Order: sequence, then structure tokens, then C-alpha cells
Amino acid sequence: MSIEASPEVLEGLQHWRSLPPRQQPAWPDPDEVTRVTAELAGYPPLVFAGEADKLRHNLAQAAAGEAFVLQGGDCAETFAESTADRIRNKIRTILQMAAVLTYGASLPVVKMGRIAGQYAKPRSADMETRDGVTLPVYRGDAVNAHDFTPESRTPDPWRLQQAYHRSATTLNLVRAFTYGGFADLREVHQWNRGFMANPAYARYEVLANEIDRAMRFMRAAGADFDALRTVDLFSSHEALLLDYESAMTRIDSRSGLPYNTSAHFLWIGERTRQLDGPHVDLLSRVRNPLGVKLGPSSTADDALALADRLNPDNEPGRLTFITRMGAGRVREVLPGLVERFTAEGRTVTWVCDPMHGNTITSPSGYKTREFATVIDEVHGFFEVHHALGTVPGGLHVELTGDDVTEVLGGSEKVDDAGLARRYETLVDPRLNHQQSLEMAFDVAEMLRD
Ligand code: PEP
Ligand code: MN
Repeated sequence: MSIEASPEVLEGLQHWRSLPPRQQPAWPDPDEVTRVTAELAGYPPLVFAGEADKLRHNLAQAAAGEAFVLQGGDCAETFAESTADRIRNKIRTILQMAAVLTYGASLPVVKMGRIAGQYAKPRSADMETRDGVTLPVYRGDAVNAHDFTPESRTPDPWRLQQAYHRSATTLNLVRAFTYGGFADLREVHQWNRGFMANPAYARYEVLANEIDRAMRFMRAAGADFDALRTVDLFSSHEALLLDYESAMTRIDSRSGLPYNTSAHFLWIGERTRQLDGPHVDLLSRVRNPLGVKLGPSSTADDALALADRLNPDNEPGRLTFITRMGAGRVREVLPGLVERFTAEGRTVTWVCDPMHGNTITSPSGYKTREFATVIDEVHGFFEVHHALGTVPGGLHVELTGDDVTEVLGGSEKVDDAGLARRYETLVDPRLNHQQSLEMAFDVAEMLRD
């Protein structure tokens, strides 16, 4: 039997339309948007309510210190790079990091990609000027193309549909890789051995040898269970484009409740988390687990008010705060937020995004980050939680599985001149494959101590 939503619930799902828009594209023809979204609303869901419920449960475990979250992927996915090779490399990187973190934390790792839908970006300006020509900014492949021409930069709502199809094909590959043998822990461990063969990573040798011994012990003991062979890799993206997110919101026939079926987990960005804004309103009405990014200007009052709106029943796993304070601020700003939440008896999963508070411009003009600074914010996040006796629930990182050169430093010492070698991101700089694994080893060492 299928349960229907009440008229009030259905009406509530449209309320965002009456609120002041933020970070939405200036679509040239609103009627065209209506046609696109009407079509999208008839497409099959990309994820299922039961999967989102399972993730909510896993995130509740992370809030309680019984699991650790790893959320990673591109700043902005692109249609051109949603190829089998690129997706496989990204999944492999996340799985390799997760294996190391599982050992370091002695906890299950909840794996989430910024993947299969991360196609829209908030921007600090609406327009961009180059050589006297002014055009709309690039807002992600779901909105416009990156080339600096009037045709490319004009927002095209049919791109929302392409974003749906690219998300579907990406998710299909994610499901195939994670349930079809590719994610076997024994295989993943072999890849990590390949990484450790590089002398640049000698400082992690003790930990790598420990993991190796643990794997050999399991093999000798004949350990063979499903969790060794398959993993859940959940999808997530910033819920930015309300026309798309609204069209993908459906009523679950088992419960009669609304779910956003574009991804398992949706987050609200630092720029769109206004309490009276449309993003908070729409997402407050769906059952998915949700994230909110909190930057260094966040106050405990802001955070509590967001929790009142997004998690009024204080349900564990429902709300994740992804803090991105910057390495220089995290030790000073985070304690106040965490202390208030603890004092008020609120449940939240605290996750550290060490990327977005640490963006700089290199002397040669690249938008980049220093690996050491990124790691410093992670350390600060753990220090704060350890000092307060609260739970550091996980990491949120921008990464790719490829050998790009976008972030400075790491044991392979990418320098300013080296950035030019393979700087490919269209928006923010990502850790490359090696830097991602190095971060996992660094954090695993810290967790183990
Ligand atoms: C992002 O995650 O790419 C992003 C824009 O982050 P924030 O909202 O934290 O600035
Ligand atoms: Mn980013």
C-alpha cells in the first residue's frame, strides 16, 4: 500500500518559491525552466529513501563516536570528466583513504562522495570581466559552460537535465564498483602497498606495516565476510539549485514523507544558510540526512537556530555541521560552538572541512591551498574535540583520484612552479591522489595515538 503526503506537506514543499532567492542563475527564459523541471519531476529517483535512512543511521553512529565519516570528491564535477576512468580513480582514492582510516580509528568509516551531482557552485560575484568583456560567472556545469564566451556563459536550464543524466551514469558506476568486487578490502590494501613503495612516504612505514600485519592475520584466520567485499559509498552534493532540488523531491510511498532523491546527503553551503532563506526552508522539509557548512564568522546562536529549523526533534544523524574555519581560526572559534551544543544537549555530527577556510593565491596567480595548512586545520579540529571530550566525527575534503597539481606541498613537494604542470580544476584546488592518501595516513596516525 502506498501512503500519500498530506496537502499541507505538498504545499510546504513549494514555500521556498516565496523566499528571496540567493545564488540562483539568471535563467534567460523562466518558461523554459518550468518545462525542464516538469520533465525532471517525472524521471526516476537517483537514490532511494531506504538508502538515505541507512546513511542517517550511520551518521548517528559517527556522532556517537562509533563510526568516522569520510566525505570527499571534486569541488565541481564536470560533464567532460564524468568518464569511467576518472570516476574509478576517485572511488579508488576514497576507498584507499577509508581503509587506512578504518585501521587508525578502529571504527567503521562512513564513505560519502562529493559525487554524482556536484555540478553547481555558489560564486562571490555574478559577473566576470576579462580584457574589457563582462560575462556571467561560471556557476557549474548544471548551469553554464566554463569557456569565456557569451554562448557558453549564458545559463541554460537544459543543463539541469544533463546533470541528472550524468549523475545517473556516475551513480551506476559507483554502485557497480562498490558492490561488484572492485572495493574488496584485500584489493584496496594492495593499492595502498603500491603507494607506500614510494620512499617519499617512509614516515608512515610503521603504520603501513601494522595494517599489513592485520591483513595477513585476517587472511591466515580465514576471515571472509561480506563487509570485506562490498561497501556503501553514498552520494552527496551542495543543494544549491532549487529548481533542480525541488524537482527531485518526491514522496516516499512507504512513509508518505518527502525525500530529496537527487543524492543521499545534501548540504547547504556557507553562502546560502540564512535561516529565513529558501535553501534552509526546502531542506527542512525533506527526510534526508543534511549538512550545513559553518565558516569562521558562525556564532553558537546561528548554529542553534539552524538546528532548531533543520533538526527540531534532535534526531541523531539528521544534522551534520561541516566546519571550515581555517587553520588559523579553528582552535579559537570551534570550541564555543561545540560547547554550546553540548551544554544544550543537542546532537550533531561534527565534520571538518579543512579546505575552504585555507584558500590562497600563489605568487604566480593560482588559487591554491597549502597541504601543511590543510593538515593543521584537521589537527586543530581534533585538538578542540579532545579538549572538550566531544566527538570529532569525520572529514570533508576536495580531492581527485588523478595526479593533478593544484594544492601546494605534501611529501612530493608541489611548488608554485609545479602548479602549472597539471592544474585542471575549474573552481577550487583539490588534493591529488597522493596527497589524499598522505592525509589519510596522517589522520590515522593521530587517531591511533
Ligand atoms: C564547496 O564546498 O565547494 C563550497 C563552496 O564550500 P563553502 O560553502 O563552505 O564555501
Ligand atoms: Mn570548493
